[in-house]
Amino acid sequence: MSAPPARRTSGFGTSIFTEISALAVAHDAVNLGQGFPDFPAPAFIKEAAMRAIREDRNQYAPAAGLPRLRAALAARWQHLHGVTVDPNTEITVASGATELLHDAVLALVEPGDEVIVFEPTYDAYVPDIIMAGGVARHVALRAPLWRWDPAELRRAFTPRTRAVILNTPHNPTGKVFAREELEELAALCREHDVVVISDEVYSELTYDGTAHVPIATLPGMRERTISIDSMGKTFSVTGWKVGWAIAPETLTLPLRAIHQFVTFTNSVPFQEALSDGLELADTHGYYDELRATYAARRERLTRVLKEAGLAPLSASGAYFLLCDTTAFGFADDVAFCRHLTTEVGVAAIPTSVFYADPKTAPPFARFCFAKRDETIDAAAARLKKLRPLH
Ligand code: PMP
Ligand code: GLN
Repeated sequence: MSAPPARRTSGFGTSIFTEISALAVAHDAVNLGQGFPDFPAPAFIKEAAMRAIREDRNQYAPAAGLPRLRAALAARWQHLHGVTVDPNTEITVASGATELLHDAVLALVEPGDEVIVFEPTYDAYVPDIIMAGGVARHVALRAPLWRWDPAELRRAFTPRTRAVILNTPHNPTGKVFAREELEELAALCREHDVVVISDEVYSELTYDGTAHVPIATLPGMRERTISIDSMGKTFSVTGWKVGWAIAPETLTLPLRAIHQFVTFTNSVPFQEALSDGLELADTHGYYDELRATYAARRERLTRVLKEAGLAPLSASGAYFLLCDTTAFGFADDVAFCRHLTTEVGVAAIPTSVFYADPKTAPPFARFCFAKRDETIDAAAARLKKLRPLH
């Protein structure tokens, strides 16, 4: 190629999830790395998708998403949070949360604007900010409770701050932010007139009675929040890629302006399936069962990791457990996870890749528990081989 690639691509590399999944395949490792369920999706949602295909629902949906899907999403938001949103002007459906995060950042951020992100930071946020010409300002969450330092958070707000990207329940830590923490962040956003892009893709996955609180439901926040969610985790279909954003019309308009030229729309049969799924999930008692089975998987993996000398931190949401790898004597978490994948046969994600400066990261490995009992047990058998280096 004669022309050099655009500089904005230079730091992007290959996503850690792609890298570790490929390594897991090459070494026939049990993959507890990339977050995706390895068990079947509920029958009612698969039937709904198949019906939509049989009925020839093959052509473009409106760019904002199928009207019946937006109505079902508005009804669910009303049911959960007692807040009315207008499906015509306040909901946008797109190709997963990944696209909506990108759309939201492009819709808001001018070159040179600052966007606050919490560290560890989900891998897509900083590239999105860079693609918009913005600057990421990192605020540390500190183990084991993953709290921010209030003074550090306050200092991160400057006259150039345009947005904060929040993620709750949080990947990779499993933290579910408490209402009081969200109040503190909300007060700063109101004071500095900053928008929150709130990534809530694990909204239905909380345990031990912990409540997921969307920051949009706090006083004065609805008008400054884009709440993003996706059917991937809730219905165990990460490959279907239907996500949605709920935001006031003033934020929805620019978001849709970007979305229409990024993908315009996404797959109709899966939008139909989600519309049906949202109606049927309640009648099937689906959400409670989902949480109960995930809580059981979390217990199973916790036991397995403890037996292998990798006591995980507690996690009250999402589907990951973090383990300190220090005692095993590797140079860092990346070396540990490579060894674990290639020599022990269990793949995990090194969390230092979620840090701007990996050298400042605690050496944790992330294990995904969205897995069948057999998968977790197969990992247990292999982990018996795990030994400290010296
Ligand atoms: N945000 C977080 C925190 C995630 O963990 C993921 C994916 N697993 C996404 C966004 C992407 O969601 P989607 O698959 O709907 O694009
Ligand atoms: N969100 C998933 C995870 O954290 C991965 C998604 C992806 O591969 N982009 O494992």
